[in-house]
Amino acid sequence: MENTGFYSALPRILCNRRRFIRNLSFGFGAGTLFLPYLSALAGNDSFAERDVYSLSGSTQDALQSGRQLGVALVGLGKYSTEELAPALQKTKLCRLTGVVTGSPEKAEKWKKLYKIPDKNVYNYQNFDQIADNADIDIVYVVLPNAMHHEYVIRAARAGKHVICEKPMAMTVAECEEMIAACKKAGKKLSIGYRLHFEPHHREMMRLGQQRVLGEIRKIFTENAQVQSEESPWRLGHGIGSGGPMRDLGVYCIQGAVYTKGDVPVSVTAKYHPKKDPEKFKLIEEGVDFQLQFADGTTADCRVSFNDEYNKLRAEAAKGWFELQPSFPYEGIKGQTSNGPMNLPNVPQQALQMDDFADCILNNKPTRVPGEMGLRDVAIIQAVFEAADTGKKVAVNVSKVLDEVGNKQ
Ligand code: NAD
Repeated sequence: MENTGFYSALPRILCNRRRFIRNLSFGFGAGTLFLPYLSALAGNDSFAERDVYSLSGSTQDALQSGRQLGVALVGLGKYSTEELAPALQKTKLCRLTGVVTGSPEKAEKWKKLYKIPDKNVYNYQNFDQIADNADIDIVYVVLPNAMHHEYVIRAARAGKHVICEKPMAMTVAECEEMIAACKKAGKKLSIGYRLHFEPHHREMMRLGQQRVLGEIRKIFTENAQVQSEESPWRLGHGIGSGGPMRDLGVYCIQGAVYTKGDVPVSVTAKYHPKKDPEKFKLIEEGVDFQLQFADGTTADCRVSFNDEYNKLRAEAAKGWFELQPSFPYEGIKGQTSNGPMNLPNVPQQALQMDDFADCILNNKPTRVPGEMGLRDVAIIQAVFEAADTGKKVAVNVSKVLDEVGNKQ
C-alpha cells in the first residue's frame, strides 16, 4: 500500500474498524479490551484479527467470569508507584493483588490505596512464602537492575509467572539462569518491554521489517535524560547497576533491532568525555555506539544521563520514518517522508500486562520473552567491551525477534 494513502485513509479505516469491532458479538464487552490497540493498528487487518481471535478460549472465559490474574509488584519505587500500579487499575485480564516492599510505611500506604489485604503484603525476607498465595499468579520484578536475577529466580521457584523489568540482568550468565529457573518451574517469563505494545513502535516494525519504503540504509537512535540524585543506584551508588547504557541504551538497541528486523553482528563504542566527573564518578556519563548488521546496515546510537534527546529514525531507499519523541510513556509522535503517522497513544503498560495475562491464559508465547532480554544484555555487554577496549566487538546472539510478518 502506498504510504501516503494509508495515512490519509486512516480516519476512514479507523471508523470501519470500530464498526467491525462493535459488530463482534462477544456479548460481554470483550471488544473494549483491545479496542484502543485495534483501532491504533487499523489498516493492518491480519494483526487486528489475530488479537480479536485471541479473545477465544480462556481469555473469553476469564472476561466472562470477571476472573483476573493477580499481580504482585516487587519494589515500590518510582516506576511501580507512578506507572505500573495506575496501569493495573486499567487492565482487564490482571489486577494488582499483592506487593513486596522493605518499607512498612509504603506497605501501609499501598494497602489502603489499592485495598490489598495484609496476607498479600510481603517483605524481601518472607517473599518466598508467596508460593502459598493463590491470589498471586504473576510476580513483576521492578527492583534495581542488580536485583532482577535473584528475585526472578525466587519468584519462579515460588511457582509464579514472572515479568522482569529492563534491562533483564547484569550479565548473560544471569539471564541464562533466570530463563532456566522459569523453564524448570514451567512458568512464563517476559521482560517489561512496553513499547512492543505501542502503535507507533509497531508501525516502525512494520515499515522497517516489511521494507515498505525499501531497504533500510541507516538507523539513528538516541535516548538521554538528565539523571537526578533521586535514584542513587542509577548513578552507581549503593547496589549500583545503573548508568545510561543499561538504563537507556536498551531502548536504542530494541528500537534498532525491531525496526531493522535483525540482530547486530558487531558493535563499536566510545564513552562521552565527562562534563560532570563528580556526579558520574561511578558510571559512564554517556556513550556513542554503533550496531553493525550482517548486510552492512548500521545503527548509530547515543545515550546520556547529562542531556535531553529522544529519537528513533530509519532512512530507507525510498524515504524515511521516525519517532520523536520516541520512548516516553505518552506523547510519542511519528513522521514519515510521506506524512505524519497520526496514530494514537495508548496505555502501554496496561496493554503489556494484559498481553502477558492473555499469553498465560491461552498458553501462548510472549512477544517479549526472557530470551529477548538476554539478547539485549549480550549487546550491552559487547558495547561496554567495545568502549573499554576501543575495538570492534563481535556479537553472537540468537535472532530473537518480534516479527510483524508473523505476529501482526
Ligand atoms: P526506583 O529507585 O524508583 O525504585 C527501586 C525500588 O527498589 C525502591 O522502592 C527501593 O526501595 C527498592 N529497593 C530494594 N532494595 C534496594 C536496594 N538494595 N537498593 C536500592 N533500591 C532498593 O527505581 P525505578 O525507576 O522504579 O526502576 C526500577 C526498575 O524498573 C529498574 O530495573 C528500571 O530499569 C525499570 N524501569 C523500567 C521502565 C520502563 O519504562 N520499562 C521505566 C522506569 C524504570
